[in-house]
Amino acid sequence: MTRIDPLAFLGEQLKEFRAAGTYQRLRELQGPCEPISIYDGKELINLASNNYLGLANHPKLKEAAIDAVRKFGAGTGAVRTISGTLEMHMELERRIAAFKHVEACVVFQSGFTANAGTVSAVLGKDDHVISDELNHASIIDGCRLSRAKIHVFRHADAAGAEEKLAALDGVPGRRLLITDGVFSMDGDIGPLPALVEVAEKYGAIMMIDDAHSSGVLGRNGRGTVDHFHLHGRVDIQVGTLSKAVGVLGGYVCGSRDFIEYLYHRARPFLFSTSHPPAVTAACLAAFDLLESEPERIEALWANTRYFKEQLARLGFNTGRSETPITPIMVGEASAAHAFSKALFEEGLFATGIGFPTVPQGKARIRTIVTATHTREHLDKALEILARVAKRMGIL
Ligand SMILES: *Cc1c(COP(=O)(O)O)cnc(C)c1O
Repeated sequence: MTRIDPLAFLGEQLKEFRAAGTYQRLRELQGPCEPISIYDGKELINLASNNYLGLANHPKLKEAAIDAVRKFGAGTGAVRTISGTLEMHMELERRIAAFKHVEACVVFQSGFTANAGTVSAVLGKDDHVISDELNHASIIDGCRLSRAKIHVFRHADAAGAEEKLAALDGVPGRRLLITDGVFSMDGDIGPLPALVEVAEKYGAIMMIDDAHSSGVLGRNGRGTVDHFHLHGRVDIQVGTLSKAVGVLGGYVCGSRDFIEYLYHRARPFLFSTSHPPAVTAACLAAFDLLESEPERIEALWANTRYFKEQLARLGFNTGRSETPITPIMVGEASAAHAFSKALFEEGLFATGIGFPTVPQGKARIRTIVTATHTREHLDKALEILARVAKRMGIL
């Protein structure tokens, strides 16, 4: 008897993606992540990574990782709460807590699990989340897992957040006000001072996801709380070790009791194996560099300013970006993917992003410059962008 594939409907979905021009094959990186990287056998200017400071392939991180493998092996053999906590795991948490000027820190396997694991551990079904409409998928999943009621406010609209909180007057349950520090698809910075005021006025827990601000904003890359001088007023700060820090992981910072609670209740911490030694050792080396070489962050921002000025001069619409994440707005998802593909052929890697990652009609290619791009790389990228955009009727 021939077996009917019960997953056949997924093949139908893929056909629809192909018809809509949104089907994406994974590009294969053949070598380290650098300003010039090789993907699918082609040498490209890489504006598609989150490797803001060029740490992903930094010799000091690599040496630390290799050394850790030699001394401690490839894996840890268990989750943190059973027997998989290395001394260096605790050292990294103390290091990050001191860096962020908070009492304590817990490191998760990724920024995604940090968000999802934290929100779902702190809130329950009788509680309320007040969430920016453009918050990251990991926040949305954390909110859903918590079974709390989700109240979405218009992007970056602190008055809208206040309305949602005011409407809950007298309703039982805890309130959590949550926003990205830097929004990953638009590159704008959340209105944190205003949101913190609102959270304080209504006694809400304030939580910020600094995935794209860790290593980018604030002194030595301490993040948006430092950038806006909000120390002591944000209860939960999430950061990632996977972007500017160059390795892998997510961290949560806050009070000692809060972090101890997460050690007992955050499910990815309890039920998924701890970071291998190489990851943790490389992260420690990255924090050494953040503290000793702030000029990397200065170079990142100098490149950001230059690239944005030049894009504006060429007439590109870069939306509301204020950070090294600079979208180039295109419109339809199929056009964004076609633009990205044409750029790839010409030697520039910039990802096309369309629905459902961004709203319908707001498709774009996303560029991220890094500290290690040279002026020559950026000028070449601008030349390719202008030439291809003109050919395709985008400029
Ligand atoms: C990338 C990202 C994450 C996830 O971080 P990973 O460490 O890659 O899992 C979380 N939140 C935001 C806003 C992000 O951009």
